[in-house]
Order: sequence, then structure tokens, then C-alpha cells
Amino acid sequence: MNGLKTEASSELYERALRYTPGGVHTSIRNITPHLIFTKAEGAYIYDADGNRYIDYQGAFGPFVLGHRHPYVTQRVVEALERTDLYGVGTTDLEIELAEKICKHVPSAESVLFCNSGSEATYHAIRLSRAVTGRAKLIKFQGCYHGWHDYVARNMLSAWDMIGKRDPGSAGMMDEAIDNTLICTFNDLDDVQRTFEANPGEVAALIVEPVPHNIGCVMPQPGFLQGLRELCTRYGAVLIFDEVITGFRHDIGGYQKVCGVTPDLTTMGKAMANGFPIAAVAGKNELMMRFNTNPGGDVWFAGTYNGHAVGTAASIATIEMMETSGVHEHIFRLGERMRQGIRDIHERMGIQAYVAGFGSVWTTYFMDREPLNYTDLKDNDAELYVSYRRKLMERGIFKMPMNIKRNHVSFSHTEQDIDHTLQCIEDVLKELR
Ligand code: PLP
Repeated sequence: MNGLKTEASSELYERALRYTPGGVHTSIRNITPHLIFTKAEGAYIYDADGNRYIDYQGAFGPFVLGHRHPYVTQRVVEALERTDLYGVGTTDLEIELAEKICKHVPSAESVLFCNSGSEATYHAIRLSRAVTGRAKLIKFQGCYHGWHDYVARNMLSAWDMIGKRDPGSAGMMDEAIDNTLICTFNDLDDVQRTFEANPGEVAALIVEPVPHNIGCVMPQPGFLQGLRELCTRYGAVLIFDEVITGFRHDIGGYQKVCGVTPDLTTMGKAMANGFPIAAVAGKNELMMRFNTNPGGDVWFAGTYNGHAVGTAASIATIEMMETSGVHEHIFRLGERMRQGIRDIHERMGIQAYVAGFGSVWTTYFMDREPLNYTDLKDNDAELYVSYRRKLMERGIFKMPMNIKRNHVSFSHTEQDIDHTLQCIEDVLKELR
């Protein structure tokens, strides 16, 4: 690697390899060089060799306020000085958080807490099957909704597998794979055809309202509204998976931005600024089927559900959003970044598309706006990855992987953005 010391990281990685398959605890983390991170603060992360990076990866989205935000940390510590987890009843923190979520998120008449986005989508889908008495699920090529069998297919498919039977893992149940139908994002005709080809069989349609797992592909005008209408017409539950967009794009999620109200919403990540908690929320008519409600028949459980750490962190994060101009700040910096990159491209005559919304952006090395996963075939993947790798070597942390997005947080400053823009210009000059 140019410019980065990695000796200490390499040594520690050897240790990690002895007791952990591949040395990492989530498959996507296995990148080279194998950096070992030891410290995080605000907009910055540090590795074992003392390299400092401006972090735009943000752990794939949670850090809407920045790492170890003092107010969130303080509220978590305060909570842990008096409470933790009981396994019976409800805590005052759970009640306070539920009230906040139902106040802000348009589709949330009631809410249940779990620990990860995958759990939330699992619960939402099982509930949809129970209320409709149907088995099938529609998801979109390129969208990610977690690691479980219901949804782990047709994510970042090889180009020749787009729309085909493409399970993401060995060991998945055939029945789960085959009951998940794949559509093309931004193509309402395709969705309608799929409903018509499976009459009375589709329990739910799940969608990332902005598919951030393929960077930042924006829903075209009318698309999300069209999904709402099709789900209503065909009697399917509309699930917005707002695990990334929730709280980041608005305190009420992207549903608040686009004015389309789903039946169920899943949330996680930015909800608690990096602490583990997630939620499924929605209309009471559906939510009351969960068996937390006496008489409900859809199983909902989890030893750590509603733990004080996650609930206190989430309350503090939402309070910051309510009082401190978080969204104004991150939207302003996001726009400064996007505009700055576009200006660089124009000066240098580079053909690329800078996509984004609010605090999220990515540069696709292609000549137009992508509308779906298939369009991303035209993105120059090799350039995309080497661009990000070279930025990492300059202390700008964006994982060197194709079509990954970047996030700014409340802790990033204009100086961070301007320094990053300078590095981007230098890297683009080097790559020419
Ligand atoms: N849904 C979306 C949109 C996600 O991006 C993710 C994770 O990246 C998940 C669900 C799964 O969340 P978790 O990793 O917390 O299980």
C-alpha cells in the first residue's frame, strides 16, 4: 500500500485468523489490506498503526451523529448506572422510545424492538404471511434486507444472474428461495406483471425506498406511490425497509420525504447511532397480530429486545435530531460534497454520475443516472474500486468495494469535506 503503515494491523490480523474464519465477523468486512481498527471519535477512525481516516463508510450507515457522540454516550452510561435488562415486563426506556418513533414515523401506529435489521425484516415478512395467508414475497434485484433465507437472494448478483434464481448463500431452503420473486427497481410494469402472474399469492412486497445497497439509486417520480397502489390493489403488505434511510434521510424516514405510507416499516442503523437496536413498526391492524399482544398468533421474541443500551442510545439520537439541526447539517455537507465532486469532474472533463440524497452520495463512473441494478453494468467497477482504494491510502475511508455508498455525519465539518475534495481531485489526476 502506498503511504499507509500496516505492520501492526497485519500482525493482529494473523492473530485474528487463528480463531476466527477469515479473521472477520461479517463477510463483507474481509477486504485487503486487513486493517485492524482500534479507536473511533467523531468523524474519524484510527487503525492499529495509528493511521487516521475521515470515515465516510460509517459502519454502513449507523453513524448519523458520528462515532461515540458525547450526548449518546452520556445517556447510555446514565442508563447503565441504573438499569439494564429484565426479561419480563417493559422498561421506561422502551416506552419513551416507542412514543418517539410513533410520533415521528408516519406508518408507525405501534412498534416492537429487536436487535438487528435482519430480525426486523424477518418479523415483518412473517407477519405479512400470517395476515394475508399467502406465501410469496416480492423483492427487487440489488436490494438487501438482511441475511435470512426469505430475502438473501439476488443482491449483488453477477451480471449474467440478474433476475435469475440467485441465492446468496449455500444452505438456504429451496422453498424460501422460490417463494421470493424478483423485480426490477423503478419498473412498475414489471411489478404489476409479477402480481398478475401470481394471483392471490403475494403476501408482501419489500423495498428499500432508496436502494442504498447499490450506492444511491433514486426512486423515480411516482414509483413508490405506484408500489403503494399495486400492493393495495393486489392485497399485499407494503414493507418499506428503512434500515438505512430511516432517521438518516428524515426523522420520519424516507416515507416522510416521499409522502408514501407503507403498511410496515423496518428500521435499524441510524436509529441509535451505532448501538445495536432495530424495530418493526406499522399499522395496528397488522401489528396486533404479534403475540406480544395477548391473543396475537405471530411469534415475536428475543432475549435482548429492548435492552437499555440500545433504547437509551436511540432516545438520545432521536433527541439530538429533534433539537440540534442534525439533518440541516448533514444535508448541507452532503450537498457540498456532491457539488464539489461535480465541479471537479467538470474541470477535469471526467464523465461520471454523482448520485445521492441528503447525507449519502456515491460517484458512479458511467455517463447517466442508473435507475436499477442492471444499469450499473455500465459503471466502471475497476475504476470505482481503485478510486476508493487510493482515497483510503490518503486517509479518506470508503471501503474499496464496487457500488458502495458514503455517508456524512453530524460530526463531519466543512474542512473535512474540503480536504476530501482535494484528495478526490488528486486521486482522479493520478488515475487518468
Ligand atoms: N435492510 C437493509 C436495507 C440493510 O442495509 C441491512 C444491512 O445492511 C439490513 C436490512 C440488515 O440489517 P442488519 O445488518 O442489522 O441485520
